[in-house]
Amino acid sequence: MRLIRLLVAAATVTALAACSSGGGGGVDGTPGGSGVRDPYFPKAGNGGYDVGHYDLVLDYDPGAGRLTGTATITARATQDLSAFNLDLKGLDVEKVTVEGREARFNRAGQELTVRPPDELDDGETFRVRVRYSGEPETVTDPDDSEEGWLPTDDGAVGLGEPTGSMAWFPGNHHPSDKATYDLAVTVPEDYGVVSNGQPAGETTKAGRTTYRWHTAEPMASYLATVAVGDWRISRSVTDDGLPVYTAVDPEQAGASRTVLAQIPAIMKWERDVFGPYPFSSTGAIVDRPDDAGYALETQTRPYFPGAPDTETLVHELAHQWYGDSVTPKTWRDMWLNEGFATYAEWLWTEDHGGDTAQETFDALYDGDYFDDEAANQAVWAFPPGKPSDAAHISDSPVYQRGAMVLHRIRQTVGDDAFRALLRDWAAAHRHGNADTDDFTAFVEKSAPGKDFTEIWDDWLYGDGKPERP
Ligand SMILES: [Zn+2]
Repeated sequence: MRLIRLLVAAATVTALAACSSGGGGGVDGTPGGSGVRDPYFPKAGNGGYDVGHYDLVLDYDPGAGRLTGTATITARATQDLSAFNLDLKGLDVEKVTVEGREARFNRAGQELTVRPPDELDDGETFRVRVRYSGEPETVTDPDDSEEGWLPTDDGAVGLGEPTGSMAWFPGNHHPSDKATYDLAVTVPEDYGVVSNGQPAGETTKAGRTTYRWHTAEPMASYLATVAVGDWRISRSVTDDGLPVYTAVDPEQAGASRTVLAQIPAIMKWERDVFGPYPFSSTGAIVDRPDDAGYALETQTRPYFPGAPDTETLVHELAHQWYGDSVTPKTWRDMWLNEGFATYAEWLWTEDHGGDTAQETFDALYDGDYFDDEAANQAVWAFPPGKPSDAAHISDSPVYQRGAMVLHRIRQTVGDDAFRALLRDWAAAHRHGNADTDDFTAFVEKSAPGKDFTEIWDDWLYGDGKPERP
């Protein structure tokens, strides 16, 4: 994500309601947890199972703003379960089955508690199907940005970071549980639907078209998207065979042409710098400027409100390695996404005749980076490894100061070792999850004899502005 905010918003304190308990009817099983104790979003995700695959069959009527869905979730129990929760915000649940048998359920806030007719055993793979409908909600984050389901002038878009995906499908909505996806979305035939991964066919019947999309590599649910609208589609293949699929709002076609034509060159540079691309297609979705307040690194196909500039395109495509493939274990580790994607912009600029990363680092340190004095000061508001609260996980300390941490590592290990470290980190956790402790241990192991104490203590975790290095 790339929130364009020059001033730090006032802290928002969100009171968290107590979670519902599933209750237990069996002898051995207990209810799965109603959250996974994320330090910033404690109710996000659920305990007791691990999702392997989402099969989402959706029907959207843009005129009425109404969504009808059937979500079939294949998961494996990680404990004996008498009940388990899914996250779902708004919408009406009509029916839930587990292994084909009707299950009791109840709802409390974003928690949908399902009680299977038979308890699930630890290690058992099971299928839960949820039939639901209603007008999906736009979710306002603790930082006042909007996500979830966003109606647009010519359709709608689902954007999920950090907790918006629960507004359009039930699931285990925490980045620590990644899964593959199949999506089929039916809309009136004059609309198009774009999602992640590969297009898997479309059929039109009685004035309505069903678009199918398949995501073969694991994806965190906050990176899932569905974009309904009038799209100008372009399909091509890079020199080395990677499919490129872009969808552009016709109003943005002219403004997008030159920048999107750079995708093959950016992908080539990013593969040289970050290592093998983790997914089987790439591309972009360009909507209108007012359709969302930010760009988002939706997997394989980042979303942009209006034609992006080159640096923003570099940033969101870099996230495919850092964020989408190597995904944070919790939202506290957000700087592992944003620090890397921001540093990717610095490196791109350095490698293409612009400012060096050192010059960008110096401008930030000297308070000459932003036009606004308050914005320059805000870089030091909190340490990147420990955002002050959920309202600030997308602030400049996570982005710019996160990138400064990486630059301090580069200064310590040297250019070649640093570039190797970028590639090795992406390879070590490809398609997985990692947290900040994993990263600091990885850096220390990759550079024996170097001392990172001051970088961790002052730049990553320390309050205030560190001493000039
Ligand atoms: Zn980002």
